[in-house]
Amino acid sequence: AAHLATQAAADHKDQPAFTFVLPTGAHVVRSFREIDALSDAFAAWLVREQGLQAGDVLALQMPNCLHYPIAVFGAWKAGLIVTNVNPLYTGRELHLQLEDSGARLLLVCDMFLPVAGPVAQTLGVPVLTASLWDFFDEPVASAIRAKMAGPADPAAVPLPRMADALVRGQALTPIEHRSHPVAVYQYTGGTTGRSKGAVITHANILATLRITRDFLDAYDGPKQGETMLTVLPMYHVFAFMVNFLVFFQVGARNLLVPSPRPMSNLQKTFEQFDVQWTAGVDTLFAGLMAEPWFQANPPKLRYAFSGGTALRTSTAQAWQALVCPILEGYGMTETSCIVSCNPPSATPRLGTVGVPMPGCQVRVVDDQGRELPQGERGELLVQGPQVVGGYLHAQEDSASAIRDGWLHTGDIAQLEEGGYIRIVDRKKDMILVSGFNVYPNEVEDVLAAHPGIAEAAVIGVPDAGTGEAVRAFVVPRNPALTPEDVERHCRTQLTAYKVPRQILFREQLPKSPVGKILRASLREAA
Ligand code: ATP
Ligand code: MG
Repeated sequence: AAHLATQAAADHKDQPAFTFVLPTGAHVVRSFREIDALSDAFAAWLVREQGLQAGDVLALQMPNCLHYPIAVFGAWKAGLIVTNVNPLYTGRELHLQLEDSGARLLLVCDMFLPVAGPVAQTLGVPVLTASLWDFFDEPVASAIRAKMAGPADPAAVPLPRMADALVRGQALTPIEHRSHPVAVYQYTGGTTGRSKGAVITHANILATLRITRDFLDAYDGPKQGETMLTVLPMYHVFAFMVNFLVFFQVGARNLLVPSPRPMSNLQKTFEQFDVQWTAGVDTLFAGLMAEPWFQANPPKLRYAFSGGTALRTSTAQAWQALVCPILEGYGMTETSCIVSCNPPSATPRLGTVGVPMPGCQVRVVDDQGRELPQGERGELLVQGPQVVGGYLHAQEDSASAIRDGWLHTGDIAQLEEGGYIRIVDRKKDMILVSGFNVYPNEVEDVLAAHPGIAEAAVIGVPDAGTGEAVRAFVVPRNPALTPEDVERHCRTQLTAYKVPRQILFREQLPKSPVGKILRASLREAA
């Protein structure tokens, strides 16, 4: 993957590769050639001025911005391994990842320095800073800076800046590209427990690109010159692989948005740019559709990808009626993002995550590991060139996840006609009520379909009578909604044992930065 930028520069030349856009509408563009040249400069600086070597680790803690692709390609040209850090991590979480990955340099957006600075200092990891105004010309740069910068501490020693590193790097003799088999230490979402570092090799990435392109090209896939709106954070494997790398290779332009929240941040962007593609999660699609400006003037996209967490059928139907077909896919950090997807066509099979990528095998097995016939529910296993070999420093976790060459996903699935996969739920989230399985996703789907409910989450809680009982957390949209209304609604749609025994109202639900509802923290609190 170290050659991606150079190859793309040869293929797509001066076309726009990345446009970084702020909520005000201020934006800045870099072409495929410029991205290649800038990443060469960064690679030269990393090697010649920082003394970094192939196999060293560069940690990236930034929102979506132009620095991101330049840093990734620069690191790979220098043979470095990238580790993507969640920008909203607390100091404790950042400490764990920097230490576990063995980071040798942290490139961090200055807005996260209050948390990241002390952690890096404790660990002795040098820091390089990025600022959102870096690539803008004056006077726009000063205007953004004035708006974003906090009060300057006169005693503070200024930290080295990536903008200066790029200037210096351009004056250095370019380096010969170096190589290392590992491309990324990508940490899992931490939705079910401790986040683990999946070791993604360059071979995994090239396989992901090849199979995803083969798949998309066979249908109505993305084309050179189209635009992908990237609102999902690039540190996450979904946006990193699909939005960033796949669309970059195709020659599409990436519109990089640093934060889609509040959703009004996106209004100007939709007015200013013609967008054909986007990718999101349920909460993003639902949030956009709740905006009056979006409803009044919905953009004309070709397709939207959804993945990373279940897409509610009610959300998908509403989005399809308003905007475009929505292609739900499925994947994990451990599969370098992608396992399956609905093909780009007018009629995706809603409720399924589509078909496996070419060259990727799946099977559904029972608790004894016996393969189940089509239609039966069991754990989904995956095999393919995009599956990682294991986790960093976690031999036990690796050995239990990958057995006999099959990745055990921890997800319950069922296979359908035509090879379509339906994800039922996570194995760990399944609730056992008097010996019957209850899948939170099914109950949440029913809850979310109620017009008076904005969001819902379902967990199991210990119960003396039934072993476990179903507890629902509901964020009401209609203030007059009562628990009795919710229960009555559930009774019309669900068998008795699936109906939530406890219905609690909340103003909001705990979510991971990609918008996954964190059932594990609801369980902990219970
Ligand atoms: P951790 O493994 O640390 O608990 P995580 O599993 O959330 O975190 P990721 O690798 O980002 O970390 O997410 C992969 C998981 O996301 C899958 O195993 C699956 O449970 C869920 N997932 C992904 N796509 C879908 C989808 N379309 N429908 C339902 N679930 C999905
Ligand atoms: Mg996982």
